[in-house]
Order: sequence, then structure tokens, then C-alpha cells
Amino acid sequence: MVEYPVKIIALGGASDIGGSCFYLRLGETGIIFDCGIHPRKKGKESIPDLESLENEPIDFVFISHAHQDHIGALPYLIKKFPHIKIFSTPQTKELASLVLHNSSKILKKELGTKSELKPYELEEVDLLVQSITEYYYNEPFILNSIKNFDEEITVTFYDAGHVLGSVSILIGWKGKNIFYSGDVNNSPQSLMNGSKIPKMNTDLSFIETTYGSQNNDEAQSWDETSKLFAKDINQVINRGGSLLIPVFSLGKFQEILLLIHNLMESGLVGLTNIYTHGLGKSLSKIYDSNRYLVNRNYKDVKLKDIPQIRISEIRNLSRLLSNPGIILASSGMMIKNTVSNEIAQFFLSNEKFAIFSVGYMDPETQGYRVMNAAKGDKIALNGNNPVKVLCTLKKFSFASHSSRKEIVSLIKKVNPKNLILIHGEEQSIKNIGSDVLEKYRHIKVYAPSLGDSIILTI
Ligand SMILES: [Zn+2]
Ligand SMILES: [Zn+2]
Repeated sequence: MVEYPVKIIALGGASDIGGSCFYLRLGETGIIFDCGIHPRKKGKESIPDLESLENEPIDFVFISHAHQDHIGALPYLIKKFPHIKIFSTPQTKELASLVLHNSSKILKKELGTKSELKPYELEEVDLLVQSITEYYYNEPFILNSIKNFDEEITVTFYDAGHVLGSVSILIGWKGKNIFYSGDVNNSPQSLMNGSKIPKMNTDLSFIETTYGSQNNDEAQSWDETSKLFAKDINQVINRGGSLLIPVFSLGKFQEILLLIHNLMESGLVGLTNIYTHGLGKSLSKIYDSNRYLVNRNYKDVKLKDIPQIRISEIRNLSRLLSNPGIILASSGMMIKNTVSNEIAQFFLSNEKFAIFSVGYMDPETQGYRVMNAAKGDKIALNGNNPVKVLCTLKKFSFASHSSRKEIVSLIKKVNPKNLILIHGEEQSIKNIGSDVLEKYRHIKVYAPSLGDSIILTI
């Protein structure tokens, strides 16, 4: 079998989660998987180092899904390499338009006029989104490039089960198979039904490792977790308290909203107000309009029909707090200057209230610090005076990523000769690496750090 050299550059999301971006050079063709912003870094640090690509061919970018940490830096990539062609599913394209409009506004606020990194304009986002070529799941397509007419590249998107429109990507080149998992979830959530990735043999696979640091007995199904969740919600509501659930606007918002609605419909949770805000609600409309087009549960349920009270301004918070309810607010990791962070400040010192986390939190974020605090600890949020933690804090694992066991099963399924472990904290990558080396000795495992370039033959 003939072997060919390929080059990989880890531009973001290597031994870390956030700002995902990987470059892959196949012969004279340059491919980029995702181009995100790092949620807790600022300015130039938060976007991939695009300058390191100046001497490389750049032709195509594939967007695995519309989370900001996978698409937020796309406008910078397009500005630098205007000829690049972008591909995603139709659902990701629709979601990306809202997510990038929102990022543009956030960047304008955050960066100001003095930053070296300039925010992008709404018009740039519109042009970018219009130029995305859409392909649906399981339909292989051929990349057209004048440079690579003698080395045809085929691409197939598979349902990754993470959020609406999310894909894992298979690339065929010179008889070689290259797989990029994107963010992947093997098990069903409330809405998304779990990934649909076929068995295959690959020469090179990039696999995400978000939950690699989990113990194998830690993973619970959504069903199991929701029973505990319901019991604890009732406790808070019955004592006249309110509950804050920090969620990502895309994915976790829609999944948890439907879950709470279902728990109320079935009588497992008492009826109470649900408060929501901003982007989560707008993104839900795209979940609704695509509900018959994708593999999901509760196709007949429209999220917009679930009664919600809009939190438009934090100033109304005192009114909001006098009427008990469940608040779904972003950001999911209570990042500074976000609605969930601001609301948390009012919640922490009130013993009737509670904050429940429902997903991954980066250890460097304020959300992580809050959720790992003990009663009586003092916490300062957003530079405010420290407050004593008196509210109830509970963590629930409603995973939208595969468990440690499922990651290893996915690796078995795509059977790579070379494996690049990405999108995980150092410990997660170490765990998955040792699980793989123990079970599948023939696989060569790589764990690049940010900025590393790897040349290997496949
Ligand atoms: Zn994601
Ligand atoms: Zn991600």
C-alpha cells in the first residue's frame, strides 16, 4: 500500500476545550476543521493563530456544528483567506447566522476600539453565511478544486448527535480515510437522538475527549439523571425558592427546556414559571422549523409553544425573584458579564434558592468555582464584593458529549491507524490515551499541544 505524508497543525482545542481549529494538509490541498473562539480568553489569544497558516495551502473549511467555540473565529479566517470554501449542514448554516451575529455584538462590547483584534461586522457575517455550501447527512460529495483535480477528495457528514445539525466528518483521499469526530454524543438526550456513525477503517482520526476524565461508573443516562433532577427541583420550588440553571444557548437550552416541560407534563415536577432569555429562544425556532428533517425525539413538540416568561432585563430581577420559578440563562459556564453570572450573584446568599449545573464547566471559569463551593464559602463574582454561599448547589450530568466508555467505543468503531486526541483537558486526553493503548496496541496515539504541527505518513 502506498503511503503519503500529511501535515496537521493544532490551532485550537488541543489539550484544551475551546477555540477548536485543526489544519490538515493533504498533498497540495489545505483543509480546516472548525474555527472557534475560546470562551474564557480575550482578544487575539481567543482566536486560532491564523498567521501560522501563511505558507500553507488553504482551500476548504468544515464546520462540525454551530457552537461559538467551533465557529466564532470563522469571520477572521475568511477575511485572511477570502477564497476558502465553507461547508456545513443546512441546520448548522441557519444556527451559525444567529450565533455569529450574537458574537459580533459581544466582541464589539468586549474588545472596544483599542484592541489589536477588531470585532467583525454584521454584514461580514451575512456574506460569510451566504457563502456556506450545505450538505446533508450521509450524502458523500466531491470537493472541486483546480489544484487537486488529480487527487479527488470525497467528504461525508454523519450525524454526531451533539446539537442540531452537528456532524462528524469522513474524508476520502487517495484511498485513505480521515475522520474528524467534532463534538459527538453517542447517547440520546431529550431531543437529539445520539450519533449515527457507521463502522469504518480509518488511516487517521481526530477524536474529541471532553469526558475522558470521568470514571467509568460515573456516566448516567439522561433518564436516570432526570429522576434525581425532578426530585431536587420540587424541593426548591416547594420551599418557595427559585432555581437557576446556567445553560449554553445552543443545545443545552433546548434540551433542558424540553426536559423540564416533559417532567411538568408527566406530573414529576410541579407546575411553575419558566424564565428564559435571548439567543436560546431564537435558536429554539430553528430547532422547531427543522424538527421533521433531523433524527430527533418529540418531533411534534415546538419549543416555542412551551410557556416561557422572557427575562429581558436584570433590573427586573427583584420582581422575578418574588415569583418562584426556574430560570434558564446563558452562559452555561457563568462566564463574567453574562446573564447567568449576574443572576447567580443574587442567588448565592439566599438559602431558599438553588443553582443546578447541567453540563461541562471549564475549571478556570466562575461557574466551576461556584459549583464546587461549599456552604459558607465566600465567592466574589464579576469583581463584586464576596458573598457567603447559602443557596443549594447541585451538579447534574446531562451530557451532550460521549462518556469515557463511549469515546473508546467510537475509536474502536472508526479503527484508526493514527489517532489524534483533541478537545479535552490534559487528564481526559491522558485517560483516553491509556485506555486505547491498553486495548488497541496497533493504534499510534498523538496528543498535540496548542501550536504543534505533526507530519505523519498514512
Ligand atoms: Zn459543541
Ligand atoms: Zn466543543
